Amino acid sequence: MAIETCGRCNNQTAKLVKCEYCARMLCNSCVKSAKRKKIDHRYICKSCWSNIGKRSMFKSAN
Ligand SMILES: [Zn+2]
Ligand SMILES: [Zn+2]
Repeated sequence: MAIETCGRCNNQTAKLVKCEYCARMLCNSCVKSAKRKKIDHRYICKSCWSNIGKRSMFKSAN
């Protein structure tokens, strides 16, 4: 399995998810929250979570 590097903390991990708001690839510990979408999940990183505008976008998104 390929090892990838987290775009936020440079942690090396086999599984990264994409932050919907800054488009960086995130390791588990950088994901602040996730929302279920129809087929997938929407993720927000801890950096975007501290941004009020992005956080409210996340909260109001379906
Ligand atoms: Zn990380
Ligand atoms: Zn982000």
